[in-house]
Amino acid sequence: MSTIYNFNAGPAALPKEVLQKAQREMVEYGNTGMSVMELSHRSNAYEDIHNQAISRLKSIANVNQDYHVLFMQGGASLQFTSVAQNFLKGQSNYILTGGWSEKAAAEAQKIGNVVIGASSKENQYRSIPLSDTLLYDSNDSYMHVTSNNTLYGTQWQSFPDASIPLVCDMSSDILSRSIDMNQFDLVYAGAQKNLGPAGVTAIFVKDSFLKQANKNIPTMLSYQTYADSNSLYNTPPVYSIYMLNLVLEWIEERGGIDYIEDQNDQKAKIVYEAIDSSDGFYKGHAQIDARSKMNVTFTLATEALTTTFLKAAADAGFVGLPGHRSVGGCRASIYNSVSLESCEALAKFMNQFKKMV
Ligand code: PMP
Repeated sequence: MSTIYNFNAGPAALPKEVLQKAQREMVEYGNTGMSVMELSHRSNAYEDIHNQAISRLKSIANVNQDYHVLFMQGGASLQFTSVAQNFLKGQSNYILTGGWSEKAAAEAQKIGNVVIGASSKENQYRSIPLSDTLLYDSNDSYMHVTSNNTLYGTQWQSFPDASIPLVCDMSSDILSRSIDMNQFDLVYAGAQKNLGPAGVTAIFVKDSFLKQANKNIPTMLSYQTYADSNSLYNTPPVYSIYMLNLVLEWIEERGGIDYIEDQNDQKAKIVYEAIDSSDGFYKGHAQIDARSKMNVTFTLATEALTTTFLKAAADAGFVGLPGHRSVGGCRASIYNSVSLESCEALAKFMNQFKKMV
């Protein structure tokens, strides 16, 4: 098979070493005589995997003792309503930086009042609102931000220091850079970009915030249910959590977040350099100070040329480069598991294509 470079936005590339280990363990996990998918979620063998994944998440993210790590299903999209069901009392505050934060706010609006503390919609989500321009009330139940905007390719560089609880959708950049996770009262992330395959959503919630949660809400949406049962209230997605644990082990073996961040910095530099050195042939969507190191979004001079580029790229083995259907253009998603070599190959291809047309 010819080389395939996977720039999918999610589900996305997984480390080859992880896939190979999963392959070795597929039919028989340890000395259990069966695959992970066949283990009882109440067995010691599964509980070990489950607890390892939780403790690795805590240690790699470097959260304080007062955080619970929970596993839920329903993707990040179910968190849009869960967050509001648990914590919206009266009014909540949403900062709009892209399509996903719009969706989060729309779900919260079904539960209670939502005020928009800031939005960068008027400039097609090219920027991140400045922290000192955010409007909020000290009675707002929480402020919701989306740390990385998967569709538009922008990323918060530092987070608001508001005096109200801070909730973050970190689906597309969790564990990609060293940030202080303790500044958030709740973080949620669908696994299928930086953490593993789809099927599990990781949640970090501060105990003092959890204590304030609304009580009379559906059992399966209540964070307390998961905290009380170590996320084993019902059957968890055992295989997704097993794969998540392997990805976390892979991160640890490479030296943790510092190594990952360094790789991600280098990868983003390579791809943005191909844009910036192209004399305007490729145009980045995001303002430079808001650029995402996870999703690089760009267009060419005309839609026709963008289409020609995407076709040539697909023929050359670059997968996943068309932008999201709601945005268009091109997007290279360069999550943790995408290699430096893939980014170098893409930059080289972009330079060659520019010379060809
Ligand atoms: N939030 C962000 C930032 C995302 O990128 C995505 C998925 N691309 C979602 C939420 C929705 O995630 P899911 O498909 O797991 O519901």
